[in-house]
Amino acid sequence: MFEAIEKKDIRRLKKLGQHFHAKNKETAALLCLDHAFSVSDNLEKSIEMSDIETAISSSQIFLTYAELMYECFAYPPPLNSKSVSRLFCVKEATSQQRLLLTPGTFLHKHMRLSPVGEVSISYEEFLDLFNKSLSSRLYKSINAQLNLFLQCKVFDPCPSLATSQPCQKRDCLQKHVLDLSWFNARIRFQLLQVSIVQFLHLRLKLTVIKNDPALARIER
Ligand SMILES: [Zn+2]
Repeated sequence: MFEAIEKKDIRRLKKLGQHFHAKNKETAALLCLDHAFSVSDNLEKSIEMSDIETAISSSQIFLTYAELMYECFAYPPPLNSKSVSRLFCVKEATSQQRLLLTPGTFLHKHMRLSPVGEVSISYEEFLDLFNKSLSSRLYKSINAQLNLFLQCKVFDPCPSLATSQPCQKRDCLQKHVLDLSWFNARIRFQLLQVSIVQFLHLRLKLTVIKNDPALARIER
C-alpha cells in the first residue's frame, strides 16, 4: 500500500482500496482511495475516462470513496478512536479530553492560525476541524470528478456515423458501433453520475454550506 502511495500508482491504489473495503478494513481503504482520487496529474486523470470499462469502474470506486469519506466525518469519532489516530496521526494528550496534532499532518495543516509545532486542542475543537477539513476535501474531490465526467467522450457516438463514412480520426475514442452493450454501459455510467450528483446535493452540500459558504459558492 505505501509503495503504491509513494509511486502514485492510481490503478493499484484503487484495487487495494476495493480489496480493503471488501474486507471491512475501512481505514486502509480510505487511505488508498483518497490518494487515488487526489492525484492532480491531468494525464493520469484522463486515463480514468479513456475507455468504457475503466470509466464505469472508476466512477463506481469513486462513489465508494465518497461514502467512506462521508461516514468518516459525519459520525463523530470517539476521543480514543484508534483508526482516526492512526490515519491522522492524532495523539491523546496527557491532560483529559485533549488531543495533540503533529506538524505536517493533514489536520495540523488545516488549522486556521497555521500554528508552529505540536498543538493541543480540545475534543470539541478537534471534531469541528475534522468535520470542516474532510467535508471540504470531499467537496473539492467530487467537483473534480464531475468535471472529469464532462471531458469523457468514450460513450458518445462518433460523428462519422451521421455521414455513414468510415471514421478518419486516428485513435478515435468515440463509439462506432451503437449496440445493446454500448447502450447499457452508457445508462450505467449516467446512473453513476446521477448518484454522485445526488450525493453532493443531498448529503454533502448542507455540511459544506454550514462550514464554509464561500467554498460552496466558488466551486459550482
Ligand atoms: Zn470515430
